[in-house]
Amino acid sequence: MQITSSIHAINIPFVVPTPAGQINRSVNVFLYCGAKITLIDSGVAGSEQYIYSYLEQIGLQPINIEHLVLTHSHPDHVGAAKEIQRATGCRVSAHIAERNWIEDTNLQEKERPVPGFHTLVGGSVTVDNLLYGGESILVDQGISLEVIHTPGHSAGSISLWCPSDKVLFTGDAVLVPGDMPIFDNYPSAVDSLKKLENIALEWSLSAWDEPKQTAEAKILFTESIDWLKKINATVHKVSKMRGVGDYMEICRDVVAELRLPQFAVNPLVARSLMSCLAE
Ligand SMILES: [Zn+2]
Repeated sequence: MQITSSIHAINIPFVVPTPAGQINRSVNVFLYCGAKITLIDSGVAGSEQYIYSYLEQIGLQPINIEHLVLTHSHPDHVGAAKEIQRATGCRVSAHIAERNWIEDTNLQEKERPVPGFHTLVGGSVTVDNLLYGGESILVDQGISLEVIHTPGHSAGSISLWCPSDKVLFTGDAVLVPGDMPIFDNYPSAVDSLKKLENIALEWSLSAWDEPKQTAEAKILFTESIDWLKKINATVHKVSKMRGVGDYMEICRDVVAELRLPQFAVNPLVARSLMSCLAE
């Protein structure tokens, strides 16, 4: 899908195999196509097929992918990075706080065991260019993406702002209201959203959601902050009733209260919910 004259979005479906059955999900990756091609996130293992065929459809050569910028280290963002780097020789950029899990995906699996990790992630890749937030990444002559550190979903999550096209790439920083809550740090997640909601954008492009234009994006940011606050309030209410005991029991009760699907009772969501009690 073409967003602006240079920016394209590709939606890539994938399956998460869990003990309770398969979960069908999808992830968006983005392309900035100038004199060279910058890819924002790689999708899960095998996503390179979708990316290469999209580029060929619009008359571009996959080998011209010069730079892969990873918004963070999770499987649906880094899964195809190793293969794309191998095939194109592209540079890889990511925030320093995500480096360990990108450069050692076995460590990531050990510390954050997503079901079916090895079907989703093709392997580790070296980060050539470490980001801290505040940098400008040149994507075409005179055109840059500004790196905004937006922690919360993960410690080194970044968003990218393209002032010339007025496009904001948010990775997983913006929670989809009503969808599974996945974050590492509740206060940081709220602060990051507040940082993003004041940007005078024309497009907000998230990894999980449809591309949103100005008015819709404003609503989404507000609803996402409200959703986080509702999750936080529910976790506090449930833990007060139950006592801070078995975190999976708290997760089960919170999922029921929030009317989330049953598969949201899982260790990843439980870990997110526990971060509300960390302060
Ligand atoms: Zn993520």
